[in-house]
Amino acid sequence: MSIQVYNTLTGRLEPFQPFSGDKANVYVCGPTVYDYSHIGHARTYLSFDIIIRYLEYKGYKVTYVVNITDIDDKIINRAKETHEDPLSLSKRFEQAFFEDMKGFHLRPANFYPRVSDHMQDIIAMVRDLIRKQFAYEVDGDVYFDVTKIRDFGKLSHQSLDQMMAGARVEIDRKKKSPYDFALWKHTGEDEPGWESPWGRGRPGWHIECSAMSMKYLGPQLDIHGGAKDLVFPHHENEIVQSESYTGKKPFVKYWIHTGFLTINGQKMSKSLGNFITIRDLLKKHSPESFRLFVLSTHYRRPVDFSEDGLIQAKATLERMYETRDRLDNLVKSHDYKESSPKDEERLLEEVSEAREKFLMGMDNDFNSAIALASFHHLIRLGNKIVDLKPSKKVIEIALNTINELGWVFGLFRQEKKGSVVSNDVKALIEERDKARKRRDWKKADEIRERLRKMGVTLRDSPDGTAIVVES
Ligand code: AMP
Ligand code: ZN
Repeated sequence: MSIQVYNTLTGRLEPFQPFSGDKANVYVCGPTVYDYSHIGHARTYLSFDIIIRYLEYKGYKVTYVVNITDIDDKIINRAKETHEDPLSLSKRFEQAFFEDMKGFHLRPANFYPRVSDHMQDIIAMVRDLIRKQFAYEVDGDVYFDVTKIRDFGKLSHQSLDQMMAGARVEIDRKKKSPYDFALWKHTGEDEPGWESPWGRGRPGWHIECSAMSMKYLGPQLDIHGGAKDLVFPHHENEIVQSESYTGKKPFVKYWIHTGFLTINGQKMSKSLGNFITIRDLLKKHSPESFRLFVLSTHYRRPVDFSEDGLIQAKATLERMYETRDRLDNLVKSHDYKESSPKDEERLLEEVSEAREKFLMGMDNDFNSAIALASFHHLIRLGNKIVDLKPSKKVIEIALNTINELGWVFGLFRQEKKGSVVSNDVKALIEERDKARKRRDWKKADEIRERLRKMGVTLRDSPDGTAIVVES
């Protein structure tokens, strides 16, 4: 069966059929790098990671692009506060973003284009939009003229007339219509700027995503995504400027938007100040626990962050590892019991049914929450199989199915159950390993005791490194 995708543009579930056969082009709006990324960002990139993994699992050849917004008002304002050059500030936080993402083992994007590296592409596009009379220049600023577009508002399902009637928008004397948006902004000498046909300036936010997505993926994209906050105006504006530029419709076949990660029901955001950075989260929790926490909810629904939720995810994850390890050990132990072929057939059918249900869940708009319920069932079956000790074939099929579907979820990145630990614990174990190498037994024992108080029990392996037995 084909994958059904909920398309924000049509408001319906649609069968996934990319523009060209088995090639799927995916563009997801990346971070504005003026601060450390928070776990709301991680939720969105993890949700797209699951989507992309599933597309690849189904045989699609995915090209994935995530942009880096390294020049914008927020960056400039922050740089003024810290007395830094805006581009070096954004470079610093771009590096931090990559470091933070590394822990989550995301399928890397094929391209991470930066705005500051694509000025000429952006200028060429703005120029063409003026030539085609979709945009106009006023005192060094360039605006897109939304009144030229009949279907402006189609993504957020509102018409320009409704918008004008309903909203209180600030009147800007430079704009012909209040919903016109800046493609190019004139900048003063004290701000970053690039030479252009309209004088020194920098791009407005929306144009970067049209210019860079088309450069790497062509004039039409299969999937374009981001969290729900980007539907209007960002993605709406991307549509009109891209379709006016290329003359091709639709710019994007499937628009996918993720729900927010909230905290006490409120969207987590840098501007509200209610955020938890990824680095702070990873001091206490493992990236894999967070992954499981995120995939327990369908990507379109909100996820409310809670410490309890993460503690529970860790316990669940450990049970999954334990079952996998038990099956693995049983295969290696050669301790198989003879069982009647009839029993075996029933077990194999149950495993296969759980697998089918998992895939049906994922086919249904990548519903990882439904798929996870089947995965839990599979884990319970795995334990039943270990207790029954059937033939090697059954054990191996159960183990392979758990590993196969675990791969779709991006789980089982650790070798053994006990390795699901936070960065703090990892750092302490490393410190203790080093102390042991120096033969500093006192220090090594102190750290072992500290870890024990944190609930982590170690065993030393023959090569001198510690293995977590229980955490
Ligand atoms: P930003 O750096 O704020 O532009 O965000 C980068 C990406 O993360 C965009 O796709 C946003 O829509 C998404 N995002 C921002 N905040 C949240 C949140 N609280 N929950 C989920 N996604 C978010
Ligand atoms: Zn974007």
